[in-house]
Amino acid sequence: MASASSETFKARKARLRAAFLDQLPQRLREARVHLTRLPDQAALVALELAFHTIKGSSGSFALTTITELAREADDVLKGALAAGAPITAGPLAALTAVFERFDALDLGAADRADPGERYGFESEPPPGPVPGQMTGQFAGPAHDHASRRREQRVYLCDDDSDLAQELCAQLACFGYCVTALTTLDALRAAVIAHPPAAVIMDVMFPEGEHAGPATIAALALATGHAIPSMYISGRDDFQARLQAVKAGGSAYCTKPVKTTELVEFLDALTHREAPIPFHVLVVDDEPAVAQLHAMILEEAGMITAVATDPAEVLSLLKGFNADLVLMDIHMPACSGPELARVLRQMSGYLSLPIIYLSSETDRGRQFEALEVGADGFLTKPVEPARLVTEVSLRAERMRTLHSLMVRDGLTGLFNHNTIMQLLELAVANARRDGQPMCFAMIDVDRFKRVNDTYGHPAGDQVLMALSRGLRLRLRESDVVGRYGGEEFAVVLPGVDEVQARDILDQLRRSFAAVHFYAGNATFNCTFSAGVAAFPRWSCADSLIEAADQALYAAKRGGRDRVEIAATLDPAVDFNRDCPAEDQDGH
Ligand code: GH3
Ligand code: MG
Ligand code: MG
Repeated sequence: MASASSETFKARKARLRAAFLDQLPQRLREARVHLTRLPDQAALVALELAFHTIKGSSGSFALTTITELAREADDVLKGALAAGAPITAGPLAALTAVFERFDALDLGAADRADPGERYGFESEPPPGPVPGQMTGQFAGPAHDHASRRREQRVYLCDDDSDLAQELCAQLACFGYCVTALTTLDALRAAVIAHPPAAVIMDVMFPEGEHAGPATIAALALATGHAIPSMYISGRDDFQARLQAVKAGGSAYCTKPVKTTELVEFLDALTHREAPIPFHVLVVDDEPAVAQLHAMILEEAGMITAVATDPAEVLSLLKGFNADLVLMDIHMPACSGPELARVLRQMSGYLSLPIIYLSSETDRGRQFEALEVGADGFLTKPVEPARLVTEVSLRAERMRTLHSLMVRDGLTGLFNHNTIMQLLELAVANARRDGQPMCFAMIDVDRFKRVNDTYGHPAGDQVLMALSRGLRLRLRESDVVGRYGGEEFAVVLPGVDEVQARDILDQLRRSFAAVHFYAGNATFNCTFSAGVAAFPRWSCADSLIEAADQALYAAKRGGRDRVEIAATLDPAVDFNRDCPAEDQDGH
């Protein structure tokens, strides 16, 4: 992995450029050997690759004289290759002339003489870091935001004080401490005394039709800070929406307001999960160029790994969790498109974005390279800002798609397939580390009745509240998923069945205390849970079956309780279907 050192970006760049210049004479000597072997076809191919690479690398280091010379040689050689016949005297003479001009070049001087400003090489990379948006990261779903939520100051301003109180109470169920204010004067005073993380605003006040947005706009002017705001309004007309937008509102909900919409807005504004930097694998047979591109991406806050030999790529990808691969096209033994094809034939890398970064300028060949399922093409030398933008955009899209694939749409929790995979992984880890782990299934009690009595949207709110509660209160290492319908699954690594029961019992009690609102009605819900512990149950299948049985025991026992699978009928062998090597639980 390329390490971020304390060396400045400029100094590191200069070092890489010097390294490239140092080994250039040796490369030219090798090229000269190929030249003496012409018209041998293999020598022609090798020579073309050599100059193509020198052209791309020197271009990346803004060594214009060298770039131009290498380009001349490369063009001659490409022409000879395209002709499909032995190289003739004319091109051969042109090549010899290029070598002579290289000989005449003082490489150290060429370095100094170059203006170095072309292609933005001397310019610093764009100010970093470019954050990876948190749109789904396999490894860590359960961040404890509870304390951060409490720290964030949120104001809700509505002249309907009953509504304001009710919304604040509902938001409290989701962990937000919101201050209700019923007049614009009170809001002004509060914002000036303690600037909020977010404001939820009505549009219409006794002071005027659009007094809400007008007040926010004036406060932003007065304080010199934009005020993150969303609007809740009984009005659904264009003018009201327009005034809200003009005042910088980032959301607009019509009354009756769904708590979940407010929560979504507050989540987005007040506690974005810490962005996880993009992971980029850079593949280039030219070490200095690979390092240069890795360095530009790292300066922008990304994490990189570098492969100078395509044969290393599979093993590097295994432990790296790459968001994107940036690869050269012309590499000996395995070309970029060949490497792309190898990756595309592996199901785990089918959707991994691949961007070529090559000095190939021929549109036809670029197109051919893209046809094997790559996602983009950048030509060397590339401007740092362009490289960072292209990589970020594609990595971001990949994360979004990945998130849609692994997460449940309603709750944002891992979906069924994903939680099953994560359970397998947790069992393997527990076995390897000799640690306990627990699997729990949670099912909302009499949920059908909730839907039937209060409506499906109210039921959805219950599911969202439960999923948020689980995420808020569990540790980062715990995994929470929506098993299906109103059933949830939790994987608790490093926890034995007694600890698991305590954790789930706490969750059960706090969930039972949450008040839900539907129209004028208030109601509460409970859940039942079944827990199965590894190594008593020694594989994923037996854990699921045992947890499921325990859940049913909890339902039979009167609901609103947690049961452990240990207390089940010992005559039933839940491990019967586990693979033989898992039977002993070690
Ligand atoms: P028990 O205590 O035995 O679990 O009873 P229950 O009513 O919770 O169980 P049952 O399995 O009979 O009903 C589950 C209900 O959950 C039926 C289904 O319509 C509802 N449901 C499943 N998915 C969703 C959803 O995404 N939203 C809503 N609102 N309801 C859902
Ligand atoms: Mg149920
Ligand atoms: Mg059910």
